[in-house]
Amino acid sequence: MNRPKHIASCSFGKDSLATILLAKEYGEPLDEAVYCEVMFDKDISGEVPEHRDFIYETAIPKLEEMGVKIIVLRSAKTYVDLFTGRVTRGPKKGMVRSFPLCGKCAVQRDCKIRPIQRYQKNLPPGTVQYIGIAQDEQERLLRLESGRQVSLLAKYNFTEQDAWQLCEKAGLLSPVYALTDRGGCWFCPNAKMPELRHLYDHHPDLWARMLELQTIPGKATEKFNRTQKFSDIDALFRQEDEDTAQAA
Ligand code: SF4
Repeated sequence: MNRPKHIASCSFGKDSLATILLAKEYGEPLDEAVYCEVMFDKDISGEVPEHRDFIYETAIPKLEEMGVKIIVLRSAKTYVDLFTGRVTRGPKKGMVRSFPLCGKCAVQRDCKIRPIQRYQKNLPPGTVQYIGIAQDEQERLLRLESGRQVSLLAKYNFTEQDAWQLCEKAGLLSPVYALTDRGGCWFCPNAKMPELRHLYDHHPDLWARMLELQTIPGKATEKFNRTQKFSDIDALFRQEDEDTAQAA
């Protein structure tokens, strides 16, 4: 191959999928799309289940039909591995690491960034990476590394709204957008209340796993996010349910 390798980073959100659609439409070079899946445990994905199903049942088959090679990366470490590991230094040494911190998420570092870095190390020098940043995200566009990172959305003048429409038209808009505008793990400490409520209502098995983790003794923190324990949020939703039942 005389030209440099071209890869697309793909979260299966609208911007990364629109980037791949544009690459195909305009004949831009694209050798593979790379997706890193964070896992809750060995069997359960960290993706919101509706998004996970979309990725494996809709998006990957469609992209493969279009001739796009998909690379799925996963860390050997899972959320549960990190949660149940022990703190190795500092005043909390020996305690169960427990919930990741908002703004300093160990899951992000160990389950997402590390596998991507390992993959990138094996790429040939000069590889070009397509990043799904839209034309109306000027600040993020300015942070792209010149020559090595390219936004096809900017090149073809696509705003976030255009990316949305392109994916929708192609049948490649994740159903997760009906639930949230934020990509990320279902156990994320940054999850907003409606996302947690969705999990509580529609995925009680996953909800129960989090409550189970909350009961592990000797945790470095009891808090799921900046202010609440997971059990507090559970109590809040139960109360909401009771109030609704009484009002009915
Ligand atoms: S989505 Fe949240 S939990 Fe998942 S890696 Fe990012 S910050 Fe961590």
